[in-house]
Amino acid sequence: MVRRYLILFVLLVLVALRCYPQNIDYDKRLREIVRQYGQAEVTIPFTDRNTLNSLTREVSITSVRDKTVVISLSPLTVEWFIQQKFGYSIIEKSFTKGIVSALNTKEAMGWEVYPSYFQYDSIMQSFISLYPGLCKLDTIGKSNNGKLVLALKISDNAADNEDEPEVFYSSTIHGDETGGFVLMLRLADYLLKNYTGNSRVKNLVDNLEIWINPLANPDGTYGTGNTISSPVRYNAQGYDLNRNFPDPVTPNTVKQKETLDMIRFMEEHRFVISANFHAGDEVVNYPWDRWYSRYHADDSWFHGISRAYADTVHYYSGPAYMNEFDNGITRGAAWYIIYGGRQDFVTYGLQGREVTIELDMTRETPAAQLELLWQNNWHSLLVYIENALYGIHGLVQDASSSLPVPAKVFITGHDSDSSHVYSDTLTGKFVRMLSPGSWDLTFSANGYIDTTVSNIPVYEGQKTDIVVNMIPETNRTKTIIPSVTSLYPNPAANEINALLSDRMTGYVNVRIINMSGVVISDFNTETIQGEPVPIDITMLKGGSYTVIFTNTSSKASCRGKFMVIK
Ligand SMILES: [Zn+2]
Repeated sequence: MVRRYLILFVLLVLVALRCYPQNIDYDKRLREIVRQYGQAEVTIPFTDRNTLNSLTREVSITSVRDKTVVISLSPLTVEWFIQQKFGYSIIEKSFTKGIVSALNTKEAMGWEVYPSYFQYDSIMQSFISLYPGLCKLDTIGKSNNGKLVLALKISDNAADNEDEPEVFYSSTIHGDETGGFVLMLRLADYLLKNYTGNSRVKNLVDNLEIWINPLANPDGTYGTGNTISSPVRYNAQGYDLNRNFPDPVTPNTVKQKETLDMIRFMEEHRFVISANFHAGDEVVNYPWDRWYSRYHADDSWFHGISRAYADTVHYYSGPAYMNEFDNGITRGAAWYIIYGGRQDFVTYGLQGREVTIELDMTRETPAAQLELLWQNNWHSLLVYIENALYGIHGLVQDASSSLPVPAKVFITGHDSDSSHVYSDTLTGKFVRMLSPGSWDLTFSANGYIDTTVSNIPVYEGQKTDIVVNMIPETNRTKTIIPSVTSLYPNPAANEINALLSDRMTGYVNVRIINMSGVVISDFNTETIQGEPVPIDITMLKGGSYTVIFTNTSSKASCRGKFMVIK
């Protein structure tokens, strides 16, 4: 794309021009830019990853390429940066070009100009008055300057909280990465307009709850004003909100209002899949952002959905757009490490699946390019949320009462770093999106016996429905399972012997449960026909216990009660 080479050329010229030795005047100029515009960009040469990893904890790295590190500085970080005495070059701030504001809401809804803040608010309101059954407006919170952080829910029966997977699109957490803001508004408009008559859209709206937050950082985009004139990356306090989320290893202490509101909103909804839109590059960036040599358990799945986004872009728009890194996709940390990003927080902390999508090399997409941005991305936007309709969709319920059971759903030997999911507390429903194959899912919940469902097939672009019946610990010991043939001596102090029926012989799992239903001991052992199974009970306190034997291949069980005397 000609535009990109031009930008690269201008960047290189600027870097070349600015490589004179650093002096006090230069620091003065940097301070002046930050004071005037609320931020500044500098470059330093790339030396090694370790330097980068300590730097990323202090300032916002925005790009690393061609042996150059691009750093954004805010009023909060500029002095720290100057003190480090890096040999840096300033990227001179050019006036925001091409951010054309609409005259009125109607013009803004042609999606080829930027709305004012009030027009944005009217557009969101107009969706609910035009399509009352299909959408609902919610406020995630208020910015530091009192502007609204809005989210539009699009679904059939939008007023109700239905049993449907929730998905989330959010843009412009960096206030000067503006293209995604209009892209999100236009996506909402497209979904609502095409619900009647477009079966693909209808399928999405009928089966999902789609949440769209076009503008996550209104203060960064609009400042205290009503039109976009000097947008900045940061919030009104000078914080980079996409470095402000709790880190999996060392949750950061400073959290901004916008971040806390977003965390609360996302905790409430537990989105199955989400994406956070940015600009400054053209790439789909997937977890982890904070671990370079550690991959998400579902790394191949993340690779697949990111590949699908970029490939769909290429299919409809040609190969020139979104072709950075591995032809438009990258693992976050392979590019550069960040801490406190939303993607890692959602994926690690909320068991969600989030990627970061960089939409445009130009951070402040000129209004004249908004139509092209839409044409390049809209198919991919549908493809991405369709992922929530695939994989394993299950209902976890109590075997006797059929009431929903909140359970941990995990894959032994596969899940790590919080990659498991949970079934919903109220509905017992869960979605686990996985690469095609055959999967064993284990369900565990308080008061229930762990259940594993084996060989669940997952096919590309399809849904597998399962219902999991959880057996309460108490039920199982009282009614369902036959008794051990013989359990002796009983009561006992140090060892107890169990004689199992012939059908139980082989490898058995032994679980000892106390009176409150807590599993005290859980192990496997081999048993031989006609020979008693010795169980060491020296570690048990005095009291009454239940022991459950389960043959590991036939799954046949039996149980017995014994007393421990100390
Ligand atoms: Zn960004």
